[in-house]
Amino acid sequence: MAQITPNIIILGPQGSGKSTQAEMLAKTFGSNLIVTGQLVRNTIKKNINLSKKIKSYVERGELVPDDILFKKIYEPHLKRVNKNKAIIFDGIPRKPSQMNKLHLLIKKSKIKEPYLLYLYIPDSLVYKRILSRKICPKCEKNYKPKDIGYKKNLCPKCITKLVKRKDDTDKSALRKRLSIFHKDTQKIINHYKKINRLIKIDGRKSVTKVNKEVLKKIKKICNDNKK
Ligand code: AMP
Repeated sequence: MAQITPNIIILGPQGSGKSTQAEMLAKTFGSNLIVTGQLVRNTIKKNINLSKKIKSYVERGELVPDDILFKKIYEPHLKRVNKNKAIIFDGIPRKPSQMNKLHLLIKKSKIKEPYLLYLYIPDSLVYKRILSRKICPKCEKNYKPKDIGYKKNLCPKCITKLVKRKDDTDKSALRKRLSIFHKDTQKIINHYKKINRLIKIDGRKSVTKVNKEVLKKIKKICNDNKK
């Protein structure tokens, strides 16, 4: 079956709601969803030779080096996804070198060139959202103070105690993650703008409003591509 919906890279600072939107998109379109941070954490959990090394980068708020990320984590995973469905890439690329490597991998895997969906929010909102968020260690869903389960500290789906991610509670690690984000992603955004594949969305609005906006833009792309 031919793939109709476009492949999408979702980019935005921590707390911009990108993971929520990525999940919603994957559900709406039945796409593959690749969450890079989750792949990294799963590799740590596997307790293989590399796990300890990878964990040390994550805990310091640093990016896992490209060679480990692509050769040991990303490439093997990409081989297993259903290529007849669109792919939503969450959390990659985070810097120009990853953009180039992902581009090569996509080409090699005969995957269509993705669009970049950029969710932007100010830094002050990043701090506010991240420092208050909790996560279910089982299903990895994020919880905001307004969400059901947050106050009771229990994921309603998994009946598992919610926790704070270690790298979310450390202000200096968060500052580091955010400064890396700004420094490295602008070139990526500029590139996708230049090739006319940038979808820019204001992430300050509610989840529903952002999703509506995102779907509107993607449907327009689908229609334009049919012409
Ligand atoms: P996240 O859940 O997206 O905040 O990612 C958690 C951690 O996984 C990051 O702090 C990095 O250590 C690692 N990670 C996630 N995505 C990438 C990436 N694209 N490149 C390198 N490391 C990554």
